[in-house]
Amino acid sequence: LNTEFEKKTPTSKRLMEDAKKVMPGGVTANIKSFDPYPVVMKKGSGAYLTDVDDNQYIDYLLSYGSLMLGHGHPNIIQAIQEQLENNGTFLFGTPHALEVEMGKRIQKYYPSMEMIRYTNSGTEATLLAIRMAYAYTEKYKIAKFEGHYHGGYNQVLISVNPPVAEAGSSDAPKAIVESKGVEPSQVENTIILPFNNLDACADILKKNQHEIAAVMLEPVQAGFIPGEEEFMKGLREITEDLGILLIFDEVKTGFRMGIGGAQSLYHIKPDITTLGKVIGGGFPIGIIGGKKEIMMVSAPLTASDVFDQSTSGKSSAKDVLFHSGTYNGHPTILSVGMAVLDVLEQEMDQVLSRTEQLKEGILQLFATRGISMQTIGVGSIFNIVITEKKHVHNYRDLQQCNFSLRKEIDFHLLAEGIYTKPLNRYSLSTAHGQKEIDYTLEAFERVLFKKM
Ligand code: PMP
Repeated sequence: LNTEFEKKTPTSKRLMEDAKKVMPGGVTANIKSFDPYPVVMKKGSGAYLTDVDDNQYIDYLLSYGSLMLGHGHPNIIQAIQEQLENNGTFLFGTPHALEVEMGKRIQKYYPSMEMIRYTNSGTEATLLAIRMAYAYTEKYKIAKFEGHYHGGYNQVLISVNPPVAEAGSSDAPKAIVESKGVEPSQVENTIILPFNNLDACADILKKNQHEIAAVMLEPVQAGFIPGEEEFMKGLREITEDLGILLIFDEVKTGFRMGIGGAQSLYHIKPDITTLGKVIGGGFPIGIIGGKKEIMMVSAPLTASDVFDQSTSGKSSAKDVLFHSGTYNGHPTILSVGMAVLDVLEQEMDQVLSRTEQLKEGILQLFATRGISMQTIGVGSIFNIVITEKKHVHNYRDLQQCNFSLRKEIDFHLLAEGIYTKPLNRYSLSTAHGQKEIDYTLEAFERVLFKKM
């Protein structure tokens, strides 16, 4: 099956053997591994990656969606240089002006984020969001959706990719631990909801209303399965009625569905939002924001709080939500974020229309070839789902698609110079021009009509 791929990538194979002597599985994040071995890259430029055997690829993984301006965008390089020259340092370790400037720009696009805090990753942002929800509501359970990913810590490593046979009925999914090392009791603090099934969600939430601090979700699951409009509206209403906070994890959808993220498309105001990926332009960042009265739980204690508790309700450190981080609001990364926003303000529409063009082209090719499939996605991400199903609503539907055929196609595409990790989504960047779209569709045509 993979002979062409293996013929073209002998150095990747050799380096991965070596890597296994240094890192478990040869990788530094489990998701970066695949069989027979992952491609080892050495250079990026615009829409392209070059591997250690000098094969060139059009990159549709874009570092799991982060690189919305492609690789090595000159404006980002310039922003870093200018920032370093102006500031004369990499890190202040104190408040600085760009934190506020960026914050105001975020608030313009995400008006629900009345106050914000910076973190160093999406994982840290969702972790803080959960603590915020616990602190504000004084309830200590989270409801999350089956198949939704929120980062790599114990509270959310539940039912991300559960074996369906063990996961209970589709309208009352069981909480299943996702990783070794997550304490089994973690399932007791996590309520699992079925995506795009409002009646079932309403039942579960009502039953657990007094324990659930927040519902956290990816408004577009894994960046490609959209929450249906009625479902999203209903979820906002139910959570509000039941005194449960609504957290939109927009680490993946933020700046990618549109600059204002999924919430601007749905016209829904979540109570808390998390952002990351795109706004870092390839550097680590996370942002959390939400309603002022919720976010203020993290405001540090001041002398006047202690003096007059009647106004703040805070008398000691335990009344304040702890949030810290040496690198939070990193000035270099925020200057990159400003450059990212400048470019997206000009070029977002172009990326969205190129994505539609590619989706449509791929759909046509599969249809002509007689393979039932869908290109599912919103904004600048989509996935190729090979299935007879008319609608793919959630994790359970996705499990019924033809992964093995998709994988076969993906390896042929790798040999053709189209890069995404097998079975992964396609993300586009401002660097993906007409030439790249045309080449990609030609490669799909060769694979579908000549190689299979
Ligand atoms: N939430 C979502 C929706 C994500 O897609 C991701 C990353 N894939 C995260 C959280 C975690 O972000 P990070 O990898 O920056 O920690």
